[in-house]
Amino acid sequence: MNALDLLDGCAAEQARPAADAQRPILRERGQREVFCGLTGIIWLHRKMQDAFFLVVGSRTCAHLLQSAAGVMIFAEPRFATAIMEERDLAGMVDAQDELDRVVNRLLERRPDIRTLFLVGSCPSEVIKLDLAKAAQRLGTVHMPRVRILNYSGSGIETTFTQGEDACLAALVPVMPALPADAPKELLIVGSLPDIVEDQFLRLFADLGIASVGVLPARNARDLPAVGPNTRYILAQPFLGDTAMALEGRGAKRIEALFPFGVEGTSDWLRAAAREFGVDPALTEQVIAPGRERARIALSKLRPQLEGKRITFLPDSQLEVPLARFLQNELGMELVEVGTPYLHRAHLARELESFGAQVRLSEGQHVERQLDRVRADRPDITVCGLGLANPLEMEGLTTKWAIELVFSPIHGFEQAADLAELFARPLRRRDLLEV
Ligand code: SF4
Repeated sequence: MNALDLLDGCAAEQARPAADAQRPILRERGQREVFCGLTGIIWLHRKMQDAFFLVVGSRTCAHLLQSAAGVMIFAEPRFATAIMEERDLAGMVDAQDELDRVVNRLLERRPDIRTLFLVGSCPSEVIKLDLAKAAQRLGTVHMPRVRILNYSGSGIETTFTQGEDACLAALVPVMPALPADAPKELLIVGSLPDIVEDQFLRLFADLGIASVGVLPARNARDLPAVGPNTRYILAQPFLGDTAMALEGRGAKRIEALFPFGVEGTSDWLRAAAREFGVDPALTEQVIAPGRERARIALSKLRPQLEGKRITFLPDSQLEVPLARFLQNELGMELVEVGTPYLHRAHLARELESFGAQVRLSEGQHVERQLDRVRADRPDITVCGLGLANPLEMEGLTTKWAIELVFSPIHGFEQAADLAELFARPLRRRDLLEV
């Protein structure tokens, strides 16, 4: 029996009560079927327009990035892979030199790069390389023109949204300090499409919250300040390490639902407004038009989704708040909500509305989960790309989890688009059945 078998036998299938609620959680440990943290580069490089992501990896890593970001080939790319071929330990000194050469050449050719991320991956020759030291060494050489940071996107350590968490956590130590006597500032944490970010910034301006920072900033060089007077609000549920790093610098989290749908977005905005002492009447006045537009748009989609049974396989860490939205606002029935990692503190309020019949699972054992999907036969299963085709072949309707990360889905204006992402595969299924 190897270590994996042992873990597998001990931990899977055991339901244990969560510390914060008496809800049983099925813990799964086994084979995983998700993209690695390198995938986050696809949306992060669009967001941080003066940053460059240099993956230190293998041909597989280069291949993943090229195929996942196929459309970007026509644009001036802001990511690349430095391929580390197999080498023994004696060759590691050469590897460091080679990495230095690649970085120096890149920065010579691309004077527009202001922040360079060295992104680690899983091949053993990369694991042996100390990227933190390399970032420090190269950072000293290229200072102050370029800031050089590192994080890991390795599939051994990260699922695909954790790549963003690792990247943002790497930025926190270099954020400027907010002076102790500065007024309270709001910080939105999590990468959002620019259009959604602008909508939220407009709403916060209407609420009279004057000073609002965003992490990641569109220009990685314009990082917002952080300190004990920072109140941060998470826009994404997969940012545990970033939250911890911010708290290490004194920032305090604003507890709220995540801004999906009418309920989540209203709660998120109200929580921030309360923290900044905004008059509740003004808060309601500011959020009313968007809330009403979203409510009307969702009411048109509800008949297509109401009563439909849904299972989430663990993938993006968006599962819990999206399940809450689909259940509470569209009347869907949650069969199983699986997530790679359940952050109990960040998700406590999200879980409050889950009925006792909802099966909650954490971690992945792909075979067992697929068996449960086959037994449950939900109307729709949200899963990774690799599992979607086999399930469709078995007559089950699926939704690719990765689309939820690439699409604008936060906020009032996007609530109907989010619901539509689930309604479309069901419509397609109905048409095929006809
Ligand atoms: Fe594959 Fe690991 Fe490279 Fe990701 S980091 S593409 S899992 S080799």
